[in-house]
Amino acid sequence: WTEGKQSDAENSLTELAALAETAGSQVLEGLIQRRTRPDPATYIGRGKVDDLGAVVLSTGADTVICDGELSPSQLRNLEQRTKVKVVDRTALILDIFAQHAKSKEGKAQVELAQLEYLLPRLRGWGESLSRQTGGSGRGGGAGGGVGLRGPGETKLETDRRRIRHRIARLRREIKSMTTVRQTKRARRSRNAVPAVAIAGYTNAGKSSLLNRLTGAGVLVEDALFATLDPTTRRATTSDGRLYTLSDTVGFVRHLPHQIVEAFRSTLEEVGDADLVVHVVDGTHPDPEEQVRAVREVLAEVGADRLPELLVVNKTDATDEETMLRLKRLWPDAVFVSAYRGRGIDELREAVERQLPRPAVEVRAVLP
Ligand code: GDP
Repeated sequence: WTEGKQSDAENSLTELAALAETAGSQVLEGLIQRRTRPDPATYIGRGKVDDLGAVVLSTGADTVICDGELSPSQLRNLEQRTKVKVVDRTALILDIFAQHAKSKEGKAQVELAQLEYLLPRLRGWGESLSRQTGGSGRGGGAGGGVGLRGPGETKLETDRRRIRHRIARLRREIKSMTTVRQTKRARRSRNAVPAVAIAGYTNAGKSSLLNRLTGAGVLVEDALFATLDPTTRRATTSDGRLYTLSDTVGFVRHLPHQIVEAFRSTLEEVGDADLVVHVVDGTHPDPEEQVRAVREVLAEVGADRLPELLVVNKTDATDEETMLRLKRLWPDAVFVSAYRGRGIDELREAVERQLPRPAVEVRAVLP
């Protein structure tokens, strides 16, 4: 099921395929279904489920990935009909975040997001057992009820309780880690070092630009979500003023709300910056859509009120026509190629111009 115009659906599906490859899958075939709204039972609708079943059989696929967030029952129904594992976009993104989280805080944040996704979807022995119980004439539906709890259902309840405990614990841990970071942040603001946050759609070239601007050795990967944990580097302006540059979490459209929630503290750091350098991939088929998606997330963490410097990257690989169109669309943007180093000096100057000037300390000595 896809919303909007055809190209949107196709771009979204291409991105989904790239995400799946990042997660280590081999993508066999794509299927688009056009509906005004998702089918409540199977998401894609009965007819399309048959098509999907046929594709699964002919390709020998072992997994179906749906571009959207499916309800627990839609997932279950699709699995029953296709006889293979069904994963939705949210689960896929969570999986990639899990693979890429490196810092202790990042790992805790991803685990929290995964558990929150998992909790309402938890089923297993308990549920099928209580269904059997219901079917044997002792009343009750899939949920069972008092006196109907078999050993399996007890296990499901135990699992749920254990997950809730773990969620509470992770929240506490993340909170204390946030406090440590806030202290560091406070120290930074005491020192009055201006901060620049590099934001942008995942794979736009944020890490490459950070490397270019600071000479830092940050991992650059042609994979979505290479950047998960924020990296902060120092840089100096041409007149010797110090400032910091931070890479942020790569944004993606339909970023699962569990991720936005779990990474809120990391994302909120963007909100403390003095300037947001918003990197856009000039070679992407729909850069405007990416800019919109990033601004949406920025707004969610209160960073939309900050000055924003739009930077169109990968100009070495962008065609002439697109360049002209983007220059008209964003006349104030800086056009660069992190690859070739083109436009980097201009970018540095633009950043410096927008940095707040240090307050001049005036000490008057009274006679
Ligand atoms: P991030 O996810 O936004 O941090 O993006 P990365 O810096 O990891 O870059 C993502 C991919 O884009 C990598 O394969 C880079 O080599 C590529 N890339 C980055 N900058 C440029 C550029 O200026 N031109 C071209 N052609 N590719 C680039």
